[in-house]
Amino acid sequence: MTLFEKIIAREIPADIVYEDDLVLAFNDINPQAPVHVLVIPKKPIPRIAEAEPEDHQVLGHLLLKAREIAADLGLHENGFRLVINNGKDGGESVPHLHLHILGGRSMAWPPG
Ligand code: AMP
Repeated sequence: MTLFEKIIAREIPADIVYEDDLVLAFNDINPQAPVHVLVIPKKPIPRIAEAEPEDHQVLGHLLLKAREIAADLGLHENGFRLVINNGKDGGESVPHLHLHILGGRSMAWPPG
């Protein structure tokens, strides 16, 4: 079981900001911006590279919920960034798909 599956199962505590049947969102334990929330599917898809066509509903839901959570956290006016790190070169450290919502400060481009 991955760390994020343990958070879904409430075996490990997390600061949860949103939950429904398909996704869970919680504050990142090591925030990289004033707002740093992770949105994860409850289905244990390891990474976006391993998502299947049948996952289109959960993936669409993940993006639309990220948009809603960003709005609820007051990020719509100034903007925000959504990030998915995939695999070794992408900087992925937890093998359970997660969307980072980053906001509350201006972001640099290109990313490091
Ligand atoms: P990534 O590097 O894209 O795989 O992102 C994994 C993220 O999970 C990092 O930003 C970590 O800070 C975050 N993280 C790791 N453990 C926890 C935890 N127990 N609760 C909340 N966030 C976590």
